[in-house]
Order: sequence, then C-alpha cells, then structure tokens
Amino acid sequence: MRRIGILTSGGDAPGMNAAIRAVARKAIYHGLEVIGFRRGFNGLMHGEYEKLRLGSVADIIHRGGTMLLTARAPEFLETAGRKKAVSVLHEQGIDALIVIGGDGSLRGAAELEKLGVKTVGVPGTIDNDLACTDYTIGFDTAVSTVTEAINKLRDTATSHERVFVIEVMGRSAGYIALAAGLSGGAESILVPEIPFAVEEVAERLQRGVKRGKLHSIILVAEGASSALAVAEQLKVLTKMDIRVTILGHVQRGGVPTSFDRMLASRLGAAAVDLLRSGCHGHMVGLQQGEIKSTSYQEALHQKKKFPEDLYHLATILAI
Ligand code: ADP
Repeated sequence: MRRIGILTSGGDAPGMNAAIRAVARKAIYHGLEVIGFRRGFNGLMHGEYEKLRLGSVADIIHRGGTMLLTARAPEFLETAGRKKAVSVLHEQGIDALIVIGGDGSLRGAAELEKLGVKTVGVPGTIDNDLACTDYTIGFDTAVSTVTEAINKLRDTATSHERVFVIEVMGRSAGYIALAAGLSGGAESILVPEIPFAVEEVAERLQRGVKRGKLHSIILVAEGASSALAVAEQLKVLTKMDIRVTILGHVQRGGVPTSFDRMLASRLGAAAVDLLRSGCHGHMVGLQQGEIKSTSYQEALHQKKKFPEDLYHLATILAI
C-alpha cells in the first residue's frame, strides 16, 4: 500500500477534523501518501481532491466541522455514480479509502467494497446511532452543547416558573436526548425507542408543581415527536405556561470536547493500522474502552442497543 484516500461524508460532527488529522499524520508517519477528497462522495466521483501533508492538517484538532467539507451525494446511490468513483480512485492510484461519517456514509463505503475498493469506516455522527461502537465522534460534543442550553433555559424557566419543551437532534435515535436529559436534569425525556403518552408527561408536570417545582424541562428527540406538537398538547392538558425551543444546527457545531478529540485521534490512527495490516471492509469503534474493528456486514446490520437502564434512572432522578 502506497497511497490512501480519505473523505468525510453525511452530516458533519465535531471531531471529524481531529480524525482527518490522525489519519493523515499516522499514514504519513508510516510513509504513505494521503489524498483528501472534498465534499464526501461528491468529490470522489468528480475528482475534487488535494494531497494532504503534515502541515495541511495543522491547527484543526480543536475546530468543529470538517476541513474536507461534507455533503450528501444522491448520485452515489446509483451504480453509475459509484463506478465513476472507482475509476477516479484507479486513475489516482489510490489503494484504499478511509470514510468518516454516519450510517449512510459507511453503507456507501460497503458498496465500494463490493466494487473491489478497499475501505475502512470511521464512525462520525452526533447521533451515536451506530452499533459496534460505544460512542461515535461528535456525540459527546453535541451532548455538552445541549446540556449547556438546558442550563441556560433552566435559569429563565425558574425565574418565570415556566415549562420548556426542547427539541433536540438525533435523527431516528434518542441517544442525544437521553444523555443530555440525564445530565441536564430534565423532568421528562421523549425518545423514539421508548413508548410514551403525553398525558403521562402532563401528570408528571402537575405532580411537580404540587411538590413545589419552579420549572420543568421536557426534552423531545426529533425522532420521537416535535416540540411544538408536544407543547400544544401539554397546554391543553395542563393550562400551564409552556415555551418551545428547537435547538437545531447549533448541536452540530462548536469546539470538540477532549473526549471527541481523543476518540477521533484513536479511531483515525486505528483505521490506518487496520489497512496496513491488510484488513478492510471493517468499521473501527470503541468497545468497552478498547479500539476494535467490526465488519460492515456485522456492524451495519444490527441496531445499537438503547440503554434503557439509563432512561429509567433519568426518570427516577427527575421525580
Ligand atoms: P450519514 O453518513 O451522516 O448517515 P447520509 O445517510 O446522508 O449521512 O449518507 C451520506 C451519503 O452516503 C449519502 O448522500 C450517499 O451518497 C451515501 N449513501 C448513503 N446510503 C447509501 C447506500 N445505501 N449505498 C450507497 N451510498 C449510500
């Protein structure tokens, strides 16, 4: 192996830059050349790339977003698009490709494998919805951002004795809502993995008021419902003063936490090691503190287990 490619794809996540830096520096350390493709699979299909040197990845470890840019690439869903990508890799003499992204991006990498391209996937998404890794790059930062927002909203909620319904990201998963809800002390957390009834949330609210709570915070994962819909129902059921905040894309940006930088550095380096050992068609991940690799076949065909014990703990602690 002489030359490897790297790209970031799908939704951006804080820590992707640290992963790019780790891949580039580890590969160069071992005498490999590194080609960075821009805008995910789009840049791969259309030959948009730059050679990454040690200095190209300087001063990015602490920055959110991705220096390689990212995009969704509908053309890549077609066989013709993927064949275009394969020919660009052949033309550039690239022996293997490292794909940093979420579920969709790793499925894209798995499709390239079927066309004979050696790939390794690095899980990068704020949603933490990939199996075979305890955490994905960007999740910890997103949870910190949401927790900080809850702190701020809690101040105003207490002063005005209000209820805040806060909608958070996570696509079809509730990991961000659960982790931020537990660490932010939310009264109720609505996630797609656990069935809920708004009537029960209303009862909890009223019980809270009776025992003297000055405010209430309800977190709604975007995959479970919308904050507006929940707030409307709660207003009818409780007649309380309810405000809605949809946090939106602030959750995707910002300075990555040290946890995300460490995770990204370890996973990026492990992806290079995996390729050097001759292994490909795998995703690297963190499993009980250790860096492990799992085949796409196994990783992409299972649903990550939702930590129901933490959910129940959050419910008990918010009594
Ligand atoms: P994420 O990687 O964050 O989950 P997406 O699901 O949008 O984001 O996927 C990013 C890109 O990966 C898509 O725009 C597409 O180009 C590619 N992709 C997604 N799913 C597949 C698939 N099943 N086969 C091939 N490519 C895919």
